[in-house]
Amino acid sequence: MSAKQGLRVVHIRRAVQILFFGIVLWLSLSHMADKTTTPPLCSYCPMGGLAGLYFFLISGGQFLWKLTYANFIILGGLILMGLVVKSGFCGWMCPFGSLQEWINRLFRKIKVRLPRIKNDRLSQVSMKLRWIKYVVLAAVILSTAVTGRLIFRDWDPFLAFFHFGHGNLASTAYLIMWIVLFLSIFIDRFWCKYLCPLGAVIGLIGKPSWIRVQRNEEECTNCQLCDKSCPMNLKPSQMQGVTSVECNSCLDCLDVHPNIRALELKTKGGLKMSKYLYPVIILSIFWGSVGLGKLTDSWITPNALRKGEEHQSGKDNQILKVEEKQPGRPKAGKPLSKKEISEQKGRREMESGEVHDRFVVIKGRAIEIRGYLSLKEVERMTGVPIDYLIKQTDLPINVDVNIQMGRLKRRYDDEIVHKIRDAISNFYEEETN
Ligand code: SF4
Ligand code: SF4
Repeated sequence: MSAKQGLRVVHIRRAVQILFFGIVLWLSLSHMADKTTTPPLCSYCPMGGLAGLYFFLISGGQFLWKLTYANFIILGGLILMGLVVKSGFCGWMCPFGSLQEWINRLFRKIKVRLPRIKNDRLSQVSMKLRWIKYVVLAAVILSTAVTGRLIFRDWDPFLAFFHFGHGNLASTAYLIMWIVLFLSIFIDRFWCKYLCPLGAVIGLIGKPSWIRVQRNEEECTNCQLCDKSCPMNLKPSQMQGVTSVECNSCLDCLDVHPNIRALELKTKGGLKMSKYLYPVIILSIFWGSVGLGKLTDSWITPNALRKGEEHQSGKDNQILKVEEKQPGRPKAGKPLSKKEISEQKGRREMESGEVHDRFVVIKGRAIEIRGYLSLKEVERMTGVPIDYLIKQTDLPINVDVNIQMGRLKRRYDDEIVHKIRDAISNFYEEETN
């Protein structure tokens, strides 16, 4: 390492990684301690914004459970970041990416590792397997659009890690988390390389980025130190500019090089940029989007505002639990967890139309019917025609099918949400008989 290099950018990156890991940890623990003052992690997740976008558009501005405008604002910040500085979020900010990196480094230090992939065939296979993350991305978006639920919560290792066993996350998320963390010992950023749907989006957006790593052919001695340093197994020594969707913009390749001019950060127009400016840009864009979210009170959804039950003095969060008091029914606020549902399912085949607290089972799938949904959304999610729902619940024929049932409840009938669940149940029972 040349003394000419001065402060290594990797040290700044580590500091940024620790900062973001700490922030997410703090948000998660604060939410566990008091759900009324700190929004859930899902409401900070850009992937939630992407998955919930379709539902938001077709429902005329409704949010999936746990999502808020803030998800879209943070997603917007990430898109802007991708267009300007490629995948800075992945290399510098994502706590789950950092965690995998730290595990891999720790075990490398104690000499537990697989040999680096040198074989070209193996390296090609590794590159091909990275297509899986686009399949995961398509599956996440489609399944959310079809079910109206954040299905990926049940599979998300990031969420599992920061839940520490609290809440009613599915056991599949914990299983995947342990598998991914174990494999990270041997394969750096295993989840990022092969499976992460957010990484897939960020990589695609950052492909035409304005600023990227560039190699100066006349300065390059083909020492290949940059290739060896790359956690994503790329070969900057063979590229003119690093435009690969796989590059996570960690800038490790810039740091490791003895000739500081062989690899540089440059704009598309060839303008050189100091590597120390990189963290300034990504942090400005990220905190700019968070600031915009805060200024516009975006962690509070219109759903919660309309409901008015959880938003007091503009301080409370947006947790979208529209609790229904149910005399004689299981206590609201304790819905069946996925685990309980699957346990019951294991004991006997669940029938379409069965109602479990807030869930109605349709073709073996438990669908949550809550007060923040409109009749139109219920029809789309369950396949039960609106006319049938109106008839069964004695709602007026000209009822607004686009407003939330929470509002119908205040306007027409306190028990409307339960009645809708029962109507869905009747519909499927009639269909079976
Ligand atoms: S690929 Fe996914 S897990 Fe990895 S750093 Fe990017 S967002 Fe985080
Ligand atoms: S090419 Fe350079 S910046 Fe991109 S992932 Fe590899 S080491 Fe990091």
